[in-house]
Amino acid sequence: GMVSPSYGARDAPVRAAEPFEKFSPPLANGERAAEPGPPFPLRPPPKAPAFGAALEEQPKNVDPLVLELVNTKVVERGPPVQWSDIAGQVSVKAAIEEELVWPILRPGSYGGTSHPLRTLLLFGPRGTGKTLLGRCISTQLGSTLLRLSGTTLLSAWKAEAEKILQTVFLVANCRQPAVVLITEAESLLADGGQAGNLKSQLLSYLDDVASSSEHGVVVIGTTARPGSIDEASHRRFGTRLYIPPPDGEARRHILRQALARQSCCLSERELAALAQRTESFSGAEILRLCQHAGAARRALPGPPMSYQDLEKAFCKARPAASQKELDLFLEWDKMYGTRH
Ligand code: ADP
Repeated sequence: GMVSPSYGARDAPVRAAEPFEKFSPPLANGERAAEPGPPFPLRPPPKAPAFGAALEEQPKNVDPLVLELVNTKVVERGPPVQWSDIAGQVSVKAAIEEELVWPILRPGSYGGTSHPLRTLLLFGPRGTGKTLLGRCISTQLGSTLLRLSGTTLLSAWKAEAEKILQTVFLVANCRQPAVVLITEAESLLADGGQAGNLKSQLLSYLDDVASSSEHGVVVIGTTARPGSIDEASHRRFGTRLYIPPPDGEARRHILRQALARQSCCLSERELAALAQRTESFSGAEILRLCQHAGAARRALPGPPMSYQDLEKAFCKARPAASQKELDLFLEWDKMYGTRH
């Protein structure tokens, strides 16, 4: 017989339990360290669900071409992303882990709140790792990841957009646990935008996902333009988290790793200087700076990449977000962000 597609959140996914063995929770500060999460495991691991079978489950009565598009272009099979792959964002990672990931992996251990967190809006400048965080959450949950861009849905896939969105959620329901990651979510949720029915459709999916306590579907929206989402819409997300550009220590970490990949070894002093000069750069912009420097160096014969090559690359790589824009993000965060 068929395996029920309604794979409940209470059957904690066994696949995802394994990363916990070598897991150390990211600590925001001394305070968080003083009150560690519950010791694992709090109860014996559940029996393995019929995972393979659940993964093959397909929704019925859907347009086969649309299903094919969703299976090939939306269901993502990228490499896993671990918490340690994301530099900085310490308090954001801790909040997501405590409020979203742990309660799903260990249901019952958290007092079984009737409305666990299932919908998340990540906002901040481009390239700060919002998509990366979404992929990490999916990895941690051992879930199927369905990723689509609101802009693509509205432009390239416009004619079929409603069918595609519907199919995305049907597939997510079939393959629980599943994460639906919607990048550039503002294009679907803009006030008086061109999204039309799509907007109300997405909002009702958000409500469905949030209101069912058994649901193993998580929806993550990301946006670099939170201000263009109307208040009624962004309030439909259970949590709204600001993902700022990396702080000094995180920049140093990103720089060190990126340069190591290019066999460039700098002194700690040079790294500190670069970390200072890249203030308000996003993670993606720091990577681009290093790539520019590496490419310029490889074009010339001579010694390996040095601090000077990086210095020269600064004229090509500037942060896209101005201080004024960053202040606007902070203001929006103060008004509508979820505090931690
Ligand atoms: P966003 O969704 O916020 O626009 P992405 O998640 O697509 O940004 O980030 C683009 C790339 O930049 C990532 O794939 C990663 O390589 C790099 N990056 C951004 N932020 C970080 C970070 N905090 N730590 C490590 N890499 C980062």
